[in-house]
Amino acid sequence: GNRTFTMIKPDAFEAGHSGDIIKMIEEAGFRIVAGKVTQLSAELAGKFYEVHQERPFYGELCEFMSSGPIIAMILEKDNAVEDFRTLIGATNPAEAAEGTIRKRFAKSLGENAVHGSDSDENATIEGNFFFTQFDEV
Ligand code: ATP
Repeated sequence: GNRTFTMIKPDAFEAGHSGDIIKMIEEAGFRIVAGKVTQLSAELAGKFYEVHQERPFYGELCEFMSSGPIIAMILEKDNAVEDFRTLIGATNPAEAAEGTIRKRFAKSLGENAVHGSDSDENATIEGNFFFTQFDEV
């Protein structure tokens, strides 16, 4: 697939890292095809992360993801999902490789700066959660 979905999470947005993160994304060869600044309600965060509802961190995750503004974006590039997961680095910033977005900007396992879809199927589902075809270029 040639598209993925990302969010700049509330920690990174609040800290003023959105510009630097978008710069890293563009320099890695991704094109932004849709984007918006928005804030999730706890209910919508719960719906977005529904697959994690049995996990012990689900409540904390939904609370955090609705705690402030985020930037949602659809990104285009060959091999988008896999290449974007490489660019963001491991979920836990302590394990994230040098040069990754999470190595530079993530604060903790929970507050880890960015989201990246984990499959082509989820990239489509997640993109459609935030955008309609009229929002995409
Ligand atoms: P994302 O889906 O945000 O790209 P991921 O695929 O790297 O992250 P998942 O295992 O799908 O990681 O977890 C989703 C999100 O839940 C993580 O990005 C992180 O913010 C949060 N999370 C995961 N594990 C924990 C944990 N043990 N404690 C708190 N939050 C966690």
